[in-house]
Amino acid sequence: MPTGALLASSPKVCGCRQCLRDRDERVNGFPAELSTFIVCSACGCKRCPHATDHRNVCTGSNEPGQPGSAYAAFKAPIVGEMGSRPGEG
Ligand SMILES: [Zn+2]
Ligand SMILES: [Zn+2]
Repeated sequence: MPTGALLASSPKVCGCRQCLRDRDERVNGFPAELSTFIVCSACGCKRCPHATDHRNVCTGSNEPGQPGSAYAAFKAPIVGEMGSRPGEG
């Protein structure tokens, strides 16, 4: 059992996506950025650029396509392997 000194120093740690990555935070062995529902600490919007990186300005908006946000480019989530391919050529 590892002795963690995580809760000692700082009373409040940043929970933005970038900080979770930087600290390599994990929940049950999985990266916290994937296991945690990350929202902006200021406005509570998941698509706010501030939720992705606290260095981004908080827009107070949950609109998709905001620059700086991990949700800037809308992409369908990767769900395993898509075994089908359209026949090309
Ligand atoms: Zn942060
Ligand atoms: Zn925000």
